[in-house]
Amino acid sequence: MADRDRGILFVISGPSGAGKGTVRKEVFRHLDGLSFSISCTTRAPRPGERDGVDYRFIPRESFLKKVESGDFLEWAEVHGNLYGTLWSDVNENLEIGKDVVLEIDVQGALQVMDKCDDLVSIFLCPPSTEELERRLRARGSEDEDTIALRLKNALGEMAEIDKYDHVVINDDLNRAVEEMERIVALYRNRDKGDLA
Ligand code: ADP
Ligand code: 5GP
Repeated sequence: MADRDRGILFVISGPSGAGKGTVRKEVFRHLDGLSFSISCTTRAPRPGERDGVDYRFIPRESFLKKVESGDFLEWAEVHGNLYGTLWSDVNENLEIGKDVVLEIDVQGALQVMDKCDDLVSIFLCPPSTEELERRLRARGSEDEDTIALRLKNALGEMAEIDKYDHVVINDDLNRAVEEMERIVALYRNRDKGDLA
């Protein structure tokens, strides 16, 4: 029997530049009852990013203290910076019945799959490597070395695609957003009617 009082944990991951942030923000504009888990990171904010909204930007030392204290559901070094999801962020929202969305890298998603029985994992896949490269350049937030590192890491990340419950190809943005929303609705309805 599904626990109807508890929210559902959705994990969106995939290579950097695939469009996770873009798709997630659109889904949040359309659907109620979702809570975005704001990750901690040691990377510097990009122009326009806000502390406590996009990320919790913290020094490496504070991040490592949280690792020691066991505060993270998952954490990983991604492209040279540390990123992590706080247990408290996830549990507090699930407990009040909110569905929680994690937007994290593949290493982190694999950790969550190991630790949590009940989650819905979604791999957001770029339509091609060429398009991924184009998007990373178009975003204009990384230098050439960082773009090269992100593209190299993308190959390893793509190799884990079979471990996910769902794969969404982010070719056309609206189509990908609709598909993501259908997945959310599918699990919400399943929980409501306990059809699973
Ligand atoms: P991620 O969060 O996976 O690193 P972003 O959401 O930052 O990726 O997207 C990377 C870049 O690609 C951004 O400039 C974004 O506007 C663009 N983008 C995202 N989805 C699409 C799409 N379907 N078609 C074209 N460009 C896209
Ligand atoms: P960016 O620096 O582009 O914001 O993020 C780089 C990568 O780190 C992206 O793939 C993003 O999804 C991932 N990321 C963001 N937050 C977390 C987190 O809390 N944990 C993990 N493992 N990865 C994260």
